[in-house]
Amino acid sequence: MIETSSKLPNIGTNIFTYIGKLANEYKAVNLSQGFPDFSPDPKLLQLAEDALKNGHNQYAPMQGTFTLRKTISEKIEELHGKSYHPEYEITITAGATQAIFTSISTFVQQDDEVIVLKPAYDCYEPVIELFGGKIVPIQLEGPDFKMNWDTFKSVIGPKTKMVVINTPHNPTGTIWSKSDMLQLQEILKSTNIILLSDEVYEHIVFDGEEHQSAARFPDLASRSIICSSFGKTFHVTGWKVGYCVAPKALMQEFQKVHQFNVFCINHPMQKALTEYLKTPKHYLGLNSFYQTKRDYFLKAIKDSKFKVIPSSGTYFQLLDYSEITDEKDIIFAEKLIRDHKLASIPVSVFNLDARDDRQLRFCFAKTEIVLDQAAQILNTIR
Ligand code: PMP
Ligand code: GLN
Repeated sequence: MIETSSKLPNIGTNIFTYIGKLANEYKAVNLSQGFPDFSPDPKLLQLAEDALKNGHNQYAPMQGTFTLRKTISEKIEELHGKSYHPEYEITITAGATQAIFTSISTFVQQDDEVIVLKPAYDCYEPVIELFGGKIVPIQLEGPDFKMNWDTFKSVIGPKTKMVVINTPHNPTGTIWSKSDMLQLQEILKSTNIILLSDEVYEHIVFDGEEHQSAARFPDLASRSIICSSFGKTFHVTGWKVGYCVAPKALMQEFQKVHQFNVFCINHPMQKALTEYLKTPKHYLGLNSFYQTKRDYFLKAIKDSKFKVIPSSGTYFQLLDYSEITDEKDIIFAEKLIRDHKLASIPVSVFNLDARDDRQLRFCFAKTEIVLDQAAQILNTIR
C-alpha cells in the first residue's frame, strides 16, 4: 500500500455529495443540492446542438472565445457601467468553481491571510489551505447576517492578501446593499488587498432590489476578481461554464495559472451561450421567475412549524426548525430524508466551528409539483 500525506487532512466528501446520495437512496424529494429540476430554454439547447454540428469541436482560445468575452463585456457595461476589455480582462472558466480555485491559487501564497465570511459556500477555504494561506473567518449572525464593520476592520492586518465575499449569498439568501459595498470599498481603499467577489447569483435578486456588483464601485473594481456562472443564470449547472473579470494586471496573472489549470474550456457551449446572451430578457427575467418560486414555496409552508429566515436572493430558503426539535441540524436533515423522504442541506457545515443554529437550507429551483410535495411533508412535521 503506497503511503502518502494528505494536503487536506480535515476534508472529507462534501455535503452535497453526501446528502445527494442519501436522498437518492431513500428516493426523497430533493431540495438539497442547488440545481433546477426543469429543462433549460429549448432555444439554448438548439443553439448548443447547432454549435456541435457546425464544427466547433476543437480547442477554444485559452481565454475563451473572443465573441463570448465581448458579449460579457457589453453586458457588464450595460448593467453596471464598468468597461472590461474583452482582450485582457475576461476569462471563460469551467464554472465559477474553477474561476475561484484559479484566483486563490494565483494570488494566495504561504502564510497570506484571507478573510472569509461565515457561513461560507464550501469551495473557498480548502483552496486557501491548499496553497498555504491562513483563513481568517468572521461568523455572521442570523437572521440578517449583517457585517459588523468594526469587526471586519479589526481582522485586517499586514498579512491580509484577500477578502472573499458572496452576494447574493449561498446559503443564507442575503444580499449586500449599496451601503455595504461602499463600506467595504472605504475600508479596503489604499490597501493592497484583493477582493474575490463571488456573484454567481447576480440575476436572482428579489423584491425590486438590485444586485450590487463590485464592478459598480470603482475602487473595489480596481482590486476585484468577479466570478459568475452561466449554470445558475441559464439553468445549465451541468455545463460548468462560468467566467471571471478583473483588471488587466490581475487577469494577466490569473491567465498564467489558468492556461495550465485547464488551458481552455468547452468550445461548443461557449458558442451557444454567446448567441443566447445577446437577448437581455434571457437573464433579466430571472429575478421574477425565482421570486415567484420563492413565494409559491413560502405560501405553501406558511402553516408549518418551520420559521422562515427571509431570502432576498439566490434560489435558497433557510428554515429554522428550533420550535420542532433541538436535534443537531445534520441529524435532523438525515432524519428528514430517512423518515419523511425530504432532502435539505444542514447549515452548520458552512459555519465557523460547525456552529449549529438549527437551520436547514432548501433549494426552491424546482417545479411546483415538487415544491408542493416538499411543502406537504414540511407541514406534517410538528
Ligand atoms: N459559488 C457559489 C456561491 C455557488 O453556490 C456555486 C454553486 N454551485 C458556485 C460558486 C460554483 O458555481 P459553478 O457551478 O459554476 O462552478
Ligand atoms: N452550489 C451548489 C449548492 O450550493 C452545489 C454545487 C456542488 O455540489 N458543488 O447546492
